[in-house]
Amino acid sequence: ELGLEGAPDTEAELQPRPPVVTIMGHVDHGKTSLLDALRQTDVAAHEAGGITQHIGAYQIELPSGGKVTFIDTPGHEAFTAMRARGASVTDMVVLVVAADDGVMPQTVEAIRHARAANVPLIVAINKIDKPGVRPDRVRQELLQHEVVVESLGGETQEVEVSATQRINLDKLLEAILLQAEILDLRANPNRPAEGTVIESKLDRGRGPVATVLVQRGTLRQGDIVVAGTEWGRVRAMLDDRGRQIKEAPPSLPVEILGLSGVPAAGEHCIVVPDEARAREISEYRQRRAREKAALAAGAGRGTLNEMLARIQAGEQKEVAVVVKADVQGSVEAIVATLGKLGNEEVKVRVLHGAVGQITESDVQLAKASNAVIVAFNVRATAQARELAQREGVEIRYYSIIYEVADDIEKLVKGRLAPVQREKFLGYAQVLQVFDVKKVGKVAGCRVTEGVVRRGAGVRLLRDGVVIHQGELSTLRRFKDDVREVQNGYECGMSFANYDDIKVGDVIECYETETVAAA
Ligand code: GDP
Repeated sequence: ELGLEGAPDTEAELQPRPPVVTIMGHVDHGKTSLLDALRQTDVAAHEAGGITQHIGAYQIELPSGGKVTFIDTPGHEAFTAMRARGASVTDMVVLVVAADDGVMPQTVEAIRHARAANVPLIVAINKIDKPGVRPDRVRQELLQHEVVVESLGGETQEVEVSATQRINLDKLLEAILLQAEILDLRANPNRPAEGTVIESKLDRGRGPVATVLVQRGTLRQGDIVVAGTEWGRVRAMLDDRGRQIKEAPPSLPVEILGLSGVPAAGEHCIVVPDEARAREISEYRQRRAREKAALAAGAGRGTLNEMLARIQAGEQKEVAVVVKADVQGSVEAIVATLGKLGNEEVKVRVLHGAVGQITESDVQLAKASNAVIVAFNVRATAQARELAQREGVEIRYYSIIYEVADDIEKLVKGRLAPVQREKFLGYAQVLQVFDVKKVGKVAGCRVTEGVVRRGAGVRLLRDGVVIHQGELSTLRRFKDDVREVQNGYECGMSFANYDDIKVGDVIECYETETVAAA
């Protein structure tokens, strides 16, 4: 784009840089506690005047002089949002698994995210201070997700830790540094800086503030930067202790002041030679964004991206939602959650909440009020899907409640384009069910839309309601194992550890690779 990429660095110009680490794991397994505990291991932590600031990332220095940068934006949000924008900031993921709880759904999600991003994992088995915990059980459970830790003969480092009792934090840091050595992380500090926006906000007193992780080059006070469509001269730079600094080398996160507006997390940030160039790049990007928004407008007023654009422009004061879910408990939980989300500028209104699949009448209702449809563990009938497409009504599919809240909250705040967390691949109709020795139930299916693919996630739908979510254990055409089956073809499918399949059920196939919604 506009010749932004500088010349590639030569071998001689590259110098070692600190690793950048993201901590992921299931809720309550101790991510926040671990981030806090690690931060306090910084040798400079007790220096006079050092008051820690939350800027979305921090760097610690070890007694050995080694340094490690941790991204500490909550949850997987930053990781997925950045990946959706094509940014990769993390060199490795520390997967926190609480020894008393074991592998849970978000643990598995984290493993998938790390795999999709192609970054190595280090397993931190947390809460080993608790009496009676069984860290070995965690190791076995991870095995089922193809994470083989070193003590079981694999290549994934594992460390037993306690975040609250500060046990083995040094071992965890050693593991991180070892992994960094293996990855041979290097960057050229002697060039104009490039980096990624980790977090950003509009500060009453200071104006737009963005935390940028420098990835190549050295960022200096006075540099002219472009981040997304925003640009400006770096008026001041602060580190994670709130200290003013003049220079930021690779892997250092810094807050920068002086931008024209608030860039989104995940935006690429780059130093340019002068203001004219900055303006040119910014204008070019704005034009492109407008073109995209115009396209989205054509697609209908009920799509999330379109709503986001209107909310950002201050033209929309309400987000209307139709909720359909598999059971009454989910309907209530989602309606209650959404009820708490509005703010003074933008309200959230639930038009309708009910159990069951999405019908044409739901789509019509949504269409009439420019509402989005939240589908929790349910699917739309073929007619409803067709109508939604024709009328430009967006149906969002979910199986995790906090993700519903997360998307709608971002929308209300006009902050970040909600990302589609998974990619729909296809539907297959179950025509017959066979009992096969040693395999169990095999469904004879016809693919009715898209493709089905081995290794992808699958859901079993009965009357439009998700009754099972898991993985395919076999995918065959005639007697042969195949990778993929296209629309119109027949195939045999069976699930791993699941047998309740009936004629008339529908198998949905999806990939969890994160893609942008637009
Ligand atoms: P997060 O949701 O993954 O960020 O988890 P938190 O860091 O908020 O921790 C959830 C709960 O587990 C809190 O009550 C913590 O005090 C507790 N906790 C975290 N780490 C440990 C640990 O190592 N040992 C024990 N006993 N409790 C822990």
